[in-house]
Amino acid sequence: MDYFADTIRNAIRTVPDWPKPGVAFRDITTVLQDRTAFRKLVDAFVHRYHDQKIDAIAAIDARGFIIGAPLAYELNAGLVLVRKKGKLPFDTLVEDYELEYGTASVELHKDAFKPGDKVVLVDDLIATGGTMLAASRLIRRIGAEIVEVSAMIDLPDLGGSRKLREEGLNVYTVCQFE
Ligand code: AMP
Repeated sequence: MDYFADTIRNAIRTVPDWPKPGVAFRDITTVLQDRTAFRKLVDAFVHRYHDQKIDAIAAIDARGFIIGAPLAYELNAGLVLVRKKGKLPFDTLVEDYELEYGTASVELHKDAFKPGDKVVLVDDLIATGGTMLAASRLIRRIGAEIVEVSAMIDLPDLGGSRKLREEGLNVYTVCQFE
């Protein structure tokens, strides 16, 4: 465990059987409402990227926004919102992806990046990796360069972070739950 991981992992609340039986929901509200843990959470990401040239942080709807906004501010980078379908008002690109039951879609404004922009993509948690992969495809379609995809939590047993690495993406997570 490194300096950041211990504090963050201890501050996450696990809610068993929510939203349905068998799911251990990793609740980050307990990190956000703890001033020390929240500061360390943002610091973990800032520490990771502060010495690199990052043009934009792309943050995934909705818990990715919470990390993405202070990170973009601290890095002096732009903030781009990857949203659930139907929320963005201008011309968009869409990627569909599989859920356990059915499909979901993420959307991005077509003018969100310039080709060659260096982007870090952030979300709260990587489970199957489906959300992160769909968001990565959107960013690549615009021609921006994904420096890394990053999340507060990895659930490595679900294989998402491995799948993302197999797609050629660098992956950073602050802490893991087996
Ligand atoms: P996935 O696309 O399977 O990697 O799922 C990632 C998304 O689902 C993230 O945006 C998480 O917010 C949410 N998610 C999936 N599993 C959990 C879990 N066990 N606890 C909290 N959030 C989860």
